[in-house]
Amino acid sequence: MTAPLICNNFINGEWVQSTTGAMLESRNPSDRREVVATFPASSKIDVDTAVSCAREAYRSWRLIPAPARAEYIFRVGEILSQQKEELALLMSREMGKCLTEARGDVQEGIDWAFYSAGEGRRLFGQTTPSEMPNKFAMTMRVPIGVCALITPWNFPVAIPCWKSMPALICGNTVILKPAEDTPACATKLVEIFQAAGLPPGVINLVHGVGEEVGKALVEHPDVNLVSFTGSSETGSQVGEICGRTHKRVCLEMGGKNAQVVMEDADLDLALEGAVWGAFGTTGQRCTATSRLILHRDIKDKFTTMLKERSSQLRLGAGYEPQTDIGPIINEKQLQRVSTYLDIARAEGAKVLMGGEVATEGELQHGYFFQPTILEGVTPQMRVAREEIFGPVVVLIEVGSFEDAIAVLNDTNYGLSSSIYTRDVNRAFAAMRDIEAGITYINGPTIGAEVHLPFGGVKSTGNGHREAGTAVLDVFTEWKTVYVDFSGSLQRAQIDNRT
Ligand code: ADP
Repeated sequence: MTAPLICNNFINGEWVQSTTGAMLESRNPSDRREVVATFPASSKIDVDTAVSCAREAYRSWRLIPAPARAEYIFRVGEILSQQKEELALLMSREMGKCLTEARGDVQEGIDWAFYSAGEGRRLFGQTTPSEMPNKFAMTMRVPIGVCALITPWNFPVAIPCWKSMPALICGNTVILKPAEDTPACATKLVEIFQAAGLPPGVINLVHGVGEEVGKALVEHPDVNLVSFTGSSETGSQVGEICGRTHKRVCLEMGGKNAQVVMEDADLDLALEGAVWGAFGTTGQRCTATSRLILHRDIKDKFTTMLKERSSQLRLGAGYEPQTDIGPIINEKQLQRVSTYLDIARAEGAKVLMGGEVATEGELQHGYFFQPTILEGVTPQMRVAREEIFGPVVVLIEVGSFEDAIAVLNDTNYGLSSSIYTRDVNRAFAAMRDIEAGITYINGPTIGAEVHLPFGGVKSTGNGHREAGTAVLDVFTEWKTVYVDFSGSLQRAQIDNRT
């Protein structure tokens, strides 16, 4: 076992200990005997220092031209590329995802760096005619100020990248508060920003417990914006505080994503999508497929195919080459998944496969849950409505396309969605009628690309989008500028017309 990495806070360009002196541990979810890292249990005092340094750094960072700011982020992308393998290995140990997926997580950060660095040369505004002669009208994007970025553990490099990089390109300064389960990934990432030469205070990192450090950031009067990804419960609290304190807030919360398989679908293709969507990253993606809505004509055949294919999946540590499904992140989450299985049984669902904590051999040292398929689920059952966030998929039978869309939409959430059909008319009707931020036709519910907007409707979010150019609307304010070069007072049309 490797010695634990000692993580610290990064404030004003320096690695510093927390004023509390207290340290917490992050453990390997595949083998909880291994401490991957220790990190500070920071306090409000550390948050105050980070915020005032970020505020000071903002004074000069916002004045650096965006193409020059972008060059720093481009360098971050280059260093991330060089350190991809090392970071992916660390991620696999710290949060459990399979090495191939961990590489993908880092790759998303790299893609973000190069994509957002290009955006530094755009950040387009508009010019438009004025009502008046000799008057010029335009809009421009201006930064917002100090941004608190509160991130979860399931994409420990990608999510901090896709929040911090556009925030910085736009001229804001940031304080990253990473999840308690993945402090080492966040620390290594911030070391890369440091190596890219960002000026002190532009990016800061404060580790600690959400209710302490996260809350202090959200409540801080000198934080202008909060970008949060995490659970719906915490997101609601964050949203309430930001509403009260007039902060801009971007929330990415839960999902209950569904894949529909119609009777005319290519079943082999739909099967690959379902297995990847449901069990990829151990079902711990916000876009994971947690409901499979199956047309009754193919339901039995598809269920047999799914069971056969899923029973071949091998559980294990993500860094072991033969592993298909890694562990669940921690004991609390493992317990939560188990509880949902109790609920499913009590509600009358049938456990077609899995359904238990896995403890054979080496698995006993980690937090493993068998890949699980629940049959005979109705849309009213809690397991069909609530986010489980584990390797559990429920099967719901429907009799028509209209029923399939109605069942898919019958949820409080609306992040990702998918339909497999060969009927182009149904595909277009689905694109129109599905209530979700993302819809895939003949593809699984997972697989977002960085240059397209990412986010959900209903209780999944609060109307903002990350990624794509849409994220610029999160991290900038619009300023409208009128330039009157007539040399005389020209009243606007509303004050001129009789
Ligand atoms: P999960 O249940 O998946 O851990 P959370 O929503 O609790 O999801 O955590 C997501 C992020 O929010 C983490 O960085 C966590 O530390 C932080 N967090 C937790 N509670 C709060 C809170 N009350 N205020 C602000 N941030 C919080």
